[in-house]
Amino acid sequence: MKRICAVLMATVFVLCSALSVYAEFEIWLEQSFLYDETFTLGDVNGDGAINAVDSMFIKTKLAGISNQELVLDAADFDADGRLSAIDSYNLKLCIAGVKATDEFENGKPIYRFTIAGNDVSEYAFVLPEGTTDEDNAYLAYRLLFKYFRYLTGNELPLYYGSAPTENTITFNVLDVESDEYGRELGYDGLKYEVVDGDLNIYGTWRGSMYAAYEIIEQYLGVRFYSDYETFVYKSRLTDIPEGTSVEIIPQLTYRFAKQTYSTNGALTHYFAHKHNGAHFYAFNEKRYGTLTGDIYGNAHSFMYYWQMSTGTMPPEGSLNPDGTPMTLYQRYQAKMDSGEPKDQFSWQPCATAQRDYDYMFNGMLDCGRMAMSMGLWDTYFEEGISMFSFSICDNSKFCSCRKCSQIQKKEGYSGLYVQMYNKACVDIQSYYPGARIYGIIYAKDTPATVLPEPNLVIQYCGVTCHNHILNQEQCFEGGGQLNDYTNDIDVVSLKYWGDACRKTGAELWYWVYPVNYHYLLVDTPNIPNLYFNTKFLIDECGVTGIAHEGNYEGNGYSFEHLKAYMMSRLMWDTDMTYDEWNEIMKEYLYIYYGPGYKYIFEYIGMQTEAGDQCGTCFVNNFDRPGDMFSYDYLGENYDTMRALLEKAYELADTPERIMRMEHLLVCCDFMALSALHTDWYVNGNNVELYTERYTWMYNKMVEYDMTVFSSEMYTVPTTCDVTVNPMTQIYGTGSRRPNIYP
Ligand SMILES: [Zn+2]
Ligand SMILES: [Zn+2]
Repeated sequence: MKRICAVLMATVFVLCSALSVYAEFEIWLEQSFLYDETFTLGDVNGDGAINAVDSMFIKTKLAGISNQELVLDAADFDADGRLSAIDSYNLKLCIAGVKATDEFENGKPIYRFTIAGNDVSEYAFVLPEGTTDEDNAYLAYRLLFKYFRYLTGNELPLYYGSAPTENTITFNVLDVESDEYGRELGYDGLKYEVVDGDLNIYGTWRGSMYAAYEIIEQYLGVRFYSDYETFVYKSRLTDIPEGTSVEIIPQLTYRFAKQTYSTNGALTHYFAHKHNGAHFYAFNEKRYGTLTGDIYGNAHSFMYYWQMSTGTMPPEGSLNPDGTPMTLYQRYQAKMDSGEPKDQFSWQPCATAQRDYDYMFNGMLDCGRMAMSMGLWDTYFEEGISMFSFSICDNSKFCSCRKCSQIQKKEGYSGLYVQMYNKACVDIQSYYPGARIYGIIYAKDTPATVLPEPNLVIQYCGVTCHNHILNQEQCFEGGGQLNDYTNDIDVVSLKYWGDACRKTGAELWYWVYPVNYHYLLVDTPNIPNLYFNTKFLIDECGVTGIAHEGNYEGNGYSFEHLKAYMMSRLMWDTDMTYDEWNEIMKEYLYIYYGPGYKYIFEYIGMQTEAGDQCGTCFVNNFDRPGDMFSYDYLGENYDTMRALLEKAYELADTPERIMRMEHLLVCCDFMALSALHTDWYVNGNNVELYTERYTWMYNKMVEYDMTVFSSEMYTVPTTCDVTVNPMTQIYGTGSRRPNIYP
């Protein structure tokens, strides 16, 4: 109940604030820009000074007698993308003091922006006649307008239908059903091309918006690395050349990577990374191309439906306590409030009893009507992609009545509940033709015969061993997995459901739990697994949607945001190679931590190794830090790992980057000092350094007022007590298993 209210409240909030959405574009609310100052105009050899050496550098380069590395942007005074005698001349004027380099700057990170070699100031935007500010293409136009203006200083005019200018940036909005190319692009596909100097953009529902983001990233050098701050590569000239032709049709139909729940991240994280998953109800608007996924309720919905069905609805004309007539929404709410609550962590409906099915199905309809009564749903219910959540509660205590048990023996619990979902798939058609049903499964057992209805989306919740890659057969019996399931069991089940979905036209989505929800001083030592698991799921299991469970805003001391960013990139570009994945990671680390990024990349490699050597299986969202790392490895390699971070720390060049490095050092120290407490401190082998590091770590936690745990259960201790293992001092215990680590 609580949750439904929260969902509706969030939606209302956005509806109320929708009027100001475009105003936000103008005032840049909560978005700052970080410019990459990697070159200074005139400093051609990049030595930090502008002098005769730079002049000689250009001369020898022009004469073809130098093969030294030259910073072209720094030499490109006339911003034509190449080195020429004019550049050489201008540099000389600057060195002689006749001119200042400032005279060749316009204060914009992108000095000159061209399309097919034409200055962008000569262009106009063209939207189809009849486009309103509720349309996705309009949002796409606003995005380009905003970034062009802010990064290049050009404010381009907008026309509808056609423009009087020689060249245009034209949005072509296609119908996803009636246009042949629209069908090919689907809901998410995009194309942009430069033909005869014109930039043409094609999309159906979301493609225009995604194309705008592609152009902003690829050509304006923007990287959306955080909800609040956007990174920009500075450049002298950027051009979208004549003949450019880019078509992207993503393989995944559902993409969702939670980073934060702030609406601030809508345009700087969520849509910037081409997400479309409906778990952000707040963004479920037509302007964003609408979303896909369970548009009402939650991944777990049965407890709400039971409560709704067992409640009584006040008749029409009923009054509120203050004498005002109850709205339809209030009457549904009263119905829900008067129903029988069920505990979502211990209760499931029977999967075969007609009464339970009816309660679930009618509860689903009524919850939907409640949303629609607020005028919410009709704005985003769309045939073919909208889906109702019809899903078990958040536990594995499935029904064991005689009839359910009989079916379960043959079809497993997964098949048992999918049969129930299938019924809803058929029945919903009489109410909402074209609607789909979204059902999660936790059970890993593989059915003998059950097939999903074509309009079912099965969301497989991957509570697997996270130390080992899904299909690499590294798990072993008794490895400490949850309920002793090895990944081999998931692999069999996933392949079954993948095949079954392919047979009927249903879809299989996967829910990833890559995150350490609770122990906020600790990362999970398995970042590369994200790449290999995703590849396996898509290539070998036919998974078409991924929900990446990132963490909330506060959890940013180590690499949680990096993971959400990496998965966002991979979900959009599923053909990415592992080398490309690593290059993207390095770029992110550069943006986030600064010039010492390579050391952090190396550090992540060692952290992964510390996980690999822990010798067990583990589950990110259940296990504790001591279960996920080899203390031996951390102890033996502490000097090396800390030295890497120290090098990056020394190179950190902004207050934010210095802070992030200090957070990372605290996290590094916390695990290593936990591993070394006995050796260095108790046994007296390195007491002085141990005490120094422990004290430094503790003081930083206090200084930053660090949130060490997801709840108030553990907080930074009031005193720094070096006699106690830090793991024990802060978390009480570092393991859920007996006799592993303190
Ligand atoms: Zn039953
Ligand atoms: Zn394992």
